[in-house]
Amino acid sequence: MARNVLVTGGGTGIGYAIAQHFAEQGETVFVTGRRTGPLKEAADRIGARAVVCDHTDPEALARLLTELPESVDVLVNNAGGNTDFDTGAASDLASYARDFRANLDANLVSAALTTKALEERLAAGGAVVHIGSIAGNRGGGSYGAAKAGLATWNIDLAGALGARGITANVVAPGYIADTEFFRDRLTDERRTQLVTETAVGRPGSPADVAGAVAFLASPAARHITGQVLHVNGGAHPTR
Ligand code: NDP
Repeated sequence: MARNVLVTGGGTGIGYAIAQHFAEQGETVFVTGRRTGPLKEAADRIGARAVVCDHTDPEALARLLTELPESVDVLVNNAGGNTDFDTGAASDLASYARDFRANLDANLVSAALTTKALEERLAAGGAVVHIGSIAGNRGGGSYGAAKAGLATWNIDLAGALGARGITANVVAPGYIADTEFFRDRLTDERRTQLVTETAVGRPGSPADVAGAVAFLASPAARHITGQVLHVNGGAHPTR
């Protein structure tokens, strides 16, 4: 029977590749995002259902629940990104607080709220997978702190969901090329450096991340929970 899969931020990049993978397996896929147009176009391409939702907003999450089935087998908390890319260095403490909190909200609080909202709907034997980052192990300011927090918080989540046979894990990608995350934001020099750091000599692709998520959501991974799976081409996750 087809599983119900929710991929947050599933209209672009890594989330889209994850949603596409599950859709191709015949699962019933729901994708979310804040921008209606690109989200609906992406959903239509893969036969998924689009629901506009800001995952940092509890009221939007309450509305999301009305669009989802009573039982959700797989939740992929992928929505996020480094909100500090565009804000730059804060000039005063109030701006610093705002920017720091924005990254925690976008990458950590959003996943916690979404999981909390869906907790009762998660099907026995299901899976929750959060998209972390190599930045959670090697720095990266408030963004890295938020991604590191995902891994720690997830240990408790795995404990809470374990009795229902639900696993909870983090997939931590390294440098994944060709998504909006890094587009127009990296110098050629920095790109080369990120590739040089890998053992395989190339950036990852969104499909590489999708493969890891699919594995963690499969019966083959039913005894794996509370873990972080690094998908970074052998880039050392510490400085
Ligand atoms: P994208 O910018 O393409 O994907 C981010 C997606 O999340 C977008 O679809 C965006 O849609 C959505 N999103 C962001 N914030 C929210 C929100 N508050 N509510 C709902 N949707 C939201 O980049 P990637 O695919 O690269 O990033 C996906 C995940 O992978 C992120 O969590 C990122 O931190 C992580 N990651 C990426 C790496 C990379 O190298 N690319 C490396 C390590 C981790 P919209 O703007 O319409 O809301």
